[in-house]
Formats: sequence, C-alpha cells, structure tokens
Amino acid sequence: MEQTAKKTIVSLKDIFVRFDGEVILNHISLDIHEKEFVTILGPSGCGKTTTLRIIGGFVEPESGDVIFDGRRINGTPPNKRNVNTVFQKYSLFPHLNVFDNVAFGLKLKKLPKDEIKRRVSKMLATVDLKGYEKRSVSTLSGGQQQRVAIARALVCDPDIILLDEPLGALDLKLRKCMQLELKEIQRSTEKTFIYVTHDQEEALTMSDRVVVMNNGAIEQVGTPEDIYNEPVNAFVADFIGEANILNGTMIDDCRIRILGRELECVDKGFGRNTPVDVVIRPEDIIITKPETGQLVGVVESSTFKGVHYEMSIRVGKCEIIVQSTKSAEIGSTVGMMVVPFNIQIMNKLLPFYDNIIETVVTGADEADNSFEFRLEDESVTVPGHYYPEGTRLRITLPPDALSLAGDGDGDIDDVYIESVVYKGEHNEIILESDERKWLMLSDVDEQVATYVPLSFDFSKAGFEVLDPEPAETEG
Ligand code: ATP
Repeated sequence: MEQTAKKTIVSLKDIFVRFDGEVILNHISLDIHEKEFVTILGPSGCGKTTTLRIIGGFVEPESGDVIFDGRRINGTPPNKRNVNTVFQKYSLFPHLNVFDNVAFGLKLKKLPKDEIKRRVSKMLATVDLKGYEKRSVSTLSGGQQQRVAIARALVCDPDIILLDEPLGALDLKLRKCMQLELKEIQRSTEKTFIYVTHDQEEALTMSDRVVVMNNGAIEQVGTPEDIYNEPVNAFVADFIGEANILNGTMIDDCRIRILGRELECVDKGFGRNTPVDVVIRPEDIIITKPETGQLVGVVESSTFKGVHYEMSIRVGKCEIIVQSTKSAEIGSTVGMMVVPFNIQIMNKLLPFYDNIIETVVTGADEADNSFEFRLEDESVTVPGHYYPEGTRLRITLPPDALSLAGDGDGDIDDVYIESVVYKGEHNEIILESDERKWLMLSDVDEQVATYVPLSFDFSKAGFEVLDPEPAETEG
C-alpha cells in the first residue's frame, strides 16, 4: 500500500550517464520522499551504485537534473550536500576508538566538545553500542563495525543516508539481524535511507519502496507488496521471489492459454490472441486430483523446506514449481488449480523479435558449399549452404539457433545480455547487438549485463531467396 503523500526530498530527472561511451543510466527519473526507506535493487552492473553516487555527488550526469528539496544541485560537491554515505567496506579509521570514529565529522565541523560528546553518546545508544566508546574498532565484530559506520554517518544529522550494500560483508545470520536493526534505526531517526542491494529478500524486508533496476533503467517502483504481487514484467517477476514464468496467449479479456489449457484470469486490455508472459507464484498453486486440475502434471521431485514442500511438477516439457504444506508422491500424476486473481499477466519483455536478417551474399564458395554476408560490420560465413554472390536472402534464425560462444569465437563479437528469464523449459535470453535485439533460448544461466560473442547455428536457419529488387539492402 502506498503511504500518504509525502514531501519529495530528492528527485532525479531524466538522468543520463555514460562511462567510456557505454550507457550506464539511460534517462532515469525517480522521486524519493522524506523519511522513507527506499531500496534500489537489481542485478550486478545494472547501475545501482551509479544512481547512488549521482545523489551523493560523486558522479555528475551527462544530462538530467538532480534536485534536493526543490533546488537543482548538479555540480554541488559531496561535502556540500546534506547527505552521508555508508559503504560496504565500512572505512572506519582503524587507529581511532569507537568514540573518535563517530565523532570525526563533528570534530571537522569544530563543534564544542560537550556537544560532540552529547551527540556521539546519543548516537551510540541509538545503534546499541553504549559502553563501547573506548573500544578500538579493530576489536569489534563485523556487525558492530557496521553500526559504528552507521552512527558516524548519522551523527552529522544529514537528511539522507546513502547505503551501498552495507551488509554485504556480513554472514547471513548477522545480516538478517542487522536488516531489522537498520530499519529500526531509520524509523527512530526519521531520516531518508537510500539503500542499494542485489538481494531481493533484503529489499523486501526493509523498504517502504523498492526501485527495481535493470540494464541502466528503472523497471518498476513500488511497495514490496506491489513489486511481489504485481510485477510489471518477467524481469521483475523473476528477480523478486520465486516465480513460474510461462509463455502464454491472452485469448481475450480475462482468458488466457498456457500449457495448452485455457484458464480464467482477471486482467483485461491486452487485446486478442496476444503473446504474453504469465506469472504464477509457487505458493498460489493448489494441488488437486488430476481430474479436477486446470493443469495436470507428474511430480518429479519434492523437497521439504522447513515450512512447506517445494515440488517440481512436469507438464509436458515444462517444469512448474509448487509450494505446498503437503507433499505429493514423486512419480504421481496431480492436478493443479490457480484462482484467477493469482494469475498475473504481463507484456513480453521483447514485444517484437524476428531474429530475421535480410542481406546480400558478399562472397561464395561453391566447392566448399558456403557463402558469406555482412552483419553489423562483420563478415559471417555460412557453411552448408551455397548462394551465388549478389543473391538477396532472408535468413530466419529460431531462438535455439543462437548460442554464446567462447572468446573471439562468435559470428558477432560483442552482444550485451539484457535479461535472462527461466520459462520452465529454457532460459529466454534477450541480447542486444549494435543494431537490433535478439531472442535466444539456452539451458545455461548466463550473466546479465555482460558482453559475449554470439554464434549462429545455420543448420537450424531458414533461407529464402528474395527478388533482386529493391536495389538498396543492408545486413
Ligand atoms: P554491483 O551490484 O555489481 O555493484 P551496480 O548495479 O551497482 O553493480 P554500477 O556500479 O552502478 O552497477 O555500475 C554500472 C556499470 O558501470 C558497470 O558496468 C560498471 O562496470 C560501470 N562503471 C561504474 N563506474 C564506472 C567508472 N567510474 N568508469 C567506467 N565504468 C564504470
């Protein structure tokens, strides 16, 4: 649930950042409210830290405005912004004790000694480190050091605290504990916390609102409940919690076809016979007798997870994950039911893809049964097919004809992995080369936001000879 209207404390407006010619933040806009805990969440390399550094004043955008309290502050150095940052590496001063570490910023401001003492003591009490004043920071545990770093950031009374994966170095148990403490510190101090993490559970636990980023863009902003229950696309659904993401067809308003069955849903306005992505959370699937199920499958595995069983159920070629307090027998045939409200329909990440190349043969070797064409400034050789030089061709590559090659081995050298979403059978991977997007199917978990060589298996391709007209063509 969205909270009542709050005052905006920071606005990013149409921020564009490039490093070494590469787009890092692609025109992002974001409003952050007073006293809220906002988490920027996304996979490694998506631009979270850069967004935080823009707010902190450590990075200047190429274009766009940074607004604090209604005032544009582009160009204002970090120390002139009412912001403090807590990094993953706490960067405490090892030679100073706890008190002096926390007091550091206040001493720089040349505040009176008794005021420094009062403020440091109050802050140490807030972070539950009363009595630790004289301890050397090097003798503290990771969690305690983290609390010193937070106290040091808070003691100067900034409006905004920026936290860049501050719990990343802690073990799981301590991290969970610190998540709750951090939230409590934020609540009691009424500061705005802007937190960066790639851990979705952390984001859902602590935040008033979550900003989901991918590939230099903001995919969705909302409360943890919004993001979990109403993901706007397959990327968000996949990134947040466990989800079955399936290819479906919206037959008409409130009617969806998945896995060869028609089901009722509550979504409207997608048009008729529109390909869509369908999300069903594992906990929303009810196991039934086969004859009463909307879907029918065979139980392949069942694992007890403490509170529920997690089952993998095969429907045709597709794997569906179900969480249930009762386990079904492995090998048995079961039915599955989902109430319409729990079927979430989303637009496809890549609404239109063709993997189709229209080109002209630039070289041919009849004896070798091969030909060449140019694709985005590279010459590609197609073995096993011969067409004379100058032939106009349409080459259709099904998504399983694409693969990511080893170093220097590709038909196109560098393509960018934009998203990877498991669709119950394969990963659906969206790639971007200089001139187009590609859809690829793969069983390998590829790393998003990396550049890889792309190869084509032309034995799976379709070739169609086109009329010589028109004269102007491109690869
Ligand atoms: P992570 O979770 O791994 O920290 P992130 O989402 O915080 O990732 P950023 O640190 O914002 O990502 O980086 C986004 C991209 O920008 C990455 O590809 C990174 O290599 C690149 N990048 C960041 N800072 C610079 C810089 N100063 N110069 C060149 N490239 C940079």
